[in-house]
Amino acid sequence: MTIICCKCLKTKTEEGWIMLPTAGADGRSSHGYCPACYQETMEKIRGHRLRHHPPATPTPTAP
Ligand SMILES: [Zn+2]
Repeated sequence: MTIICCKCLKTKTEEGWIMLPTAGADGRSSHGYCPACYQETMEKIRGHRLRHHPPATPTPTAP
């Protein structure tokens, strides 16, 4: 079974994540995230959370 990134539509192969014109053509593919899009998504989620629940910012100490 092949894994296709649902964001950039690259396919996981032995050589890494590449764009294949036949991606998903056999109907036995599974959608997931490639490392780059996974990272991007995680950062987006983190940024979203930070906007709504900002962490306590430490007071900068004077040198
Ligand atoms: Zn991707």
